[in-house]
Order: sequence, then C-alpha cells, then structure tokens
Amino acid sequence: MIYTDTRDKSVKTDFRTAVINGMNKDTGGLYIPVSFPKLNPSFINKTPEPCFRDIAFEMAKPFVENEIPDNDLMAIINDAYPFSAPIVPVDKTSYVLELFHGPTCAFKDFGARFMARVMSYFNRNESTPLHILVATSGDTGSAVGSAFYKVPGLDVTILYPEGKISPLQEKQLSTFDGNVRALKVKGTFDDCQKLVKTAFTDETLREKLRLSSANSINISRLLPQSFYYMHSSLVVRNRSWADNKIENPDIIAVVPSGNFGNLTSGLIAKEMGAPIKGLVAATNSNKTIPDWIASGNYETRPSVTTYANAMDVGAPSNYERISAFYSLEQVRKMFAAYWLDNDGIVDAISSCYDKTGYTIDPHGAIAWKAWYDIKTSAMESLVAGQKNDIEKPGLVSNIPEWADSIVNKKAVGIILETAHPAKFGSTVQKATGNAPLIPDRLEKVMNLPDKAVPMENDYNKFKEWLLANLA
Ligand SMILES: *Cc1c(COP(=O)(O)O)cnc(C)c1O
Repeated sequence: MIYTDTRDKSVKTDFRTAVINGMNKDTGGLYIPVSFPKLNPSFINKTPEPCFRDIAFEMAKPFVENEIPDNDLMAIINDAYPFSAPIVPVDKTSYVLELFHGPTCAFKDFGARFMARVMSYFNRNESTPLHILVATSGDTGSAVGSAFYKVPGLDVTILYPEGKISPLQEKQLSTFDGNVRALKVKGTFDDCQKLVKTAFTDETLREKLRLSSANSINISRLLPQSFYYMHSSLVVRNRSWADNKIENPDIIAVVPSGNFGNLTSGLIAKEMGAPIKGLVAATNSNKTIPDWIASGNYETRPSVTTYANAMDVGAPSNYERISAFYSLEQVRKMFAAYWLDNDGIVDAISSCYDKTGYTIDPHGAIAWKAWYDIKTSAMESLVAGQKNDIEKPGLVSNIPEWADSIVNKKAVGIILETAHPAKFGSTVQKATGNAPLIPDRLEKVMNLPDKAVPMENDYNKFKEWLLANLA
C-alpha cells in the first residue's frame, strides 16, 4: 500500500515511514492510504462470519503488503488480540459492541497494541531501543503503556500532570516497571506536551536517543480499529433475522467521539466492504463536528470538561482525514450527528439502565441515547420537517440517506461502548444508584505500588533525566 498525506497528495510513502514518523513533519499533514482495498465478497459473505482475528488478518494484509510477510502479520495479530469485542443485544434492534475487554478496559487497547507490535517489528534489526515519549491527560497513557509493556526493542516514558488525572488513571500509568515508566510533572497537560515536543526538536538529545511518539494520529492505531466494525457488522447482519425479523437491515454504527479516530476507522471498514449503511457522530458538549454537519462551518474551539472526559476535544484531529476523504455533502449523506450535555449524559446512563438493564459508561451512554432517540422518533420528526436548534442537546437537523429505513423500521444499530463503566464508577453510580462491578484487571492495578518519578516542569531537568536514565 502507498500512503499519502492529507495536505499534499503528491507525497508517496510506505507503511513503515508513516508509522515511525506518526505525522508528516514537512507538511503538518496526516498519513492516509491512497486508496481503500476491498475485501473479497466471498470472505465477507461467509456464514457463519469469520472470527475476529481472521478478519483482522485479511483487513491488515493489503495495508502492510510487501512490508510485513503474512506469517509475521499473523503473529502480530495473535499477540495483540488475546481478547475480542463481544456483541451484546440490549433490545431487538440495538446491539452494544463491548470494546473494553482489553487490559486497560477501553477501546484504545485495539489500536495501541497493534501499533506497539508493528513498531517493534520495524525496529527488529536495530541494536538500540526506540524510545517512545508520550504526554497524556489520562487514558491514552495507560493504553500505550500497557500495549508496549515488555514489547522487545521499545521503551516508553509517559508524562502526566501530577494531581490532574483520576486516581485510577494514575494507577494505570504509574505501576509499570521494566521498559515502561511514568513521570509525574508539576504542571498541566499542556506543559507535559511541551516537554515532549521540545525533546523531539532537540538535536543533541536525538543524537543520543532514537525518539518516536505514540500519538493517536498514527495510522497504525487507526487501521486496527476498523477490524471490530467489520466483525460486528457481519455478526449483526447474520443474526438480525432471528432477533428482529428484519431482512437485510441497514446497519448503523453509533460512535461516541472525541478526536474522531474511532469513527474514521468505521469509515475505513465501510469502504472495505463492511455492511454498514451509516454512522452517527455522537459527542458531548464539545460539539465541533455536529456544528460542522449542521452549519457547514468547521470551527475549532477550546475544549470543555464533561463526564465523558475522553471525548473532551474541541479541535478533533481526524477532521483532517474525514474531510480529505469526503465532501461535506457526502458526510451529510452518511452521518447523523447528535450531542448531549452533562445532565443529558447522566440521564442517558440511567435511562439505558431502566429500559434495558444494561450498565453503560458515560461515553457509550451518549451513543445509546442517540440511537434510542433516532429510532423512536427524532429522525421521523426531522423527515416530517421539524428543525432542531443546534444549541439544544439532541439530534442535529441533518437527514442522512438512510433516514427512510429508520422511519420504515428497517435499521438496526451497533452502539460502540468504548470503556468499561467501572472506569467512571462515580458518574455511573450517580445515574443508576449502583456502583459498577470492578473487573479483576482494574482491581489488581489499584493495589500495585505507585512508581511514578516526580519531575519539575523544566526542560533542562527533563533532558538531564532522560540522558541519565535512558541513554
Ligand atoms: C478516546 C476515547 C473516546 C474518543 O475516541 P476518538 O477516537 O478520539 O473519537 C471515546 N471513549 C473513550 C472511553 C475513549 O477513551
């Protein structure tokens, strides 16, 4: 596969370069494949559907062609995914896709674990480790730390703002040993990011250490997230008749979104032949994308803090990819858009629990409520001519091309549940009255000793520490 760049289509590069560089320094653009490969229909139409790992292998193959041989790719996938993504029906036409069965209990495990193994593979003939520096405001750091832990040839340093992340998040970052360590910086997330950025541009440091990032914009985190869209849409297509007597339903993927990496992965799966008719962009009060779909104007803004804090993003980085692939008109045909404020999030968790018995986290709750509203009446009202005020939470006034199948009850929804509810226990308890059960792997982490190293918000001290401890 040849990769190009969102800002300059004359750029041509390979997978390895795209993965190691993360983004194109020369243009500031993001790497994208020049085209979308299609899976063979005989593979997609198998009954029963192929298993998750077989799908992962078939989907990854064209993207790494001539760079990672089949046997090595298979080994990477088997090692990355000892878990998969169960599909849980919560009513006849709603399926929750549980993406939290990885080690850190959030969907970022799917992308980060693939990226770590691919980087290790590309580093295999080097005599020195590749040093990953990552600044985190919470969840990314734990997914990256866990994904790279004990992966040969790689070494990870995580920077986080001391006292500004939740106690559970801190435990998930700071209890590693060996090749992964955390620095608790006396400063903000922006300070952490600045220390990392300064290090990347420091030539004297780079002479001593080979540095790379594990940023969420990396193409090797995006591609593997398409695997679970393909798998779940095939599972749902094959079981739908038995569940709801809808023949050939239109399948709608409902995606709680922040940087829109997950949703972009859904678009890749759709292009590769997944039976997905449309997508719902579901956000919290950081509604830059819903506003864009409603008004046609894309305006970034500072982020605001919400209960669904992994989606507190005012300038979603993957807008750049979505708008490189599609026109606004095409986006409006494919997407519905929906947003909720904090009161709406709490209400959504509690009504999901009341109506279905399912305990959902604050991020997934927005998606559940979006689908519930869309399929019960909100889309029908739009089709009948109602206009919704974009300043009020709910469905945005945009009628996608699949609106009729909603009105005619020919659609089913896949709701992406991006985190385990126990990661956001206090919000969930406030909504349902019950504290969610804590999975063993989270409980264990909570009892491990904290090994984070204190760090001043001072570049020279940070550099000294890196040279003394890593070089
Ligand atoms: C990161 C994250 C999201 C947002 O995903 P994007 O790819 O940035 O849109 C949603 N939910 C949870 C729990 C997350 O950790």
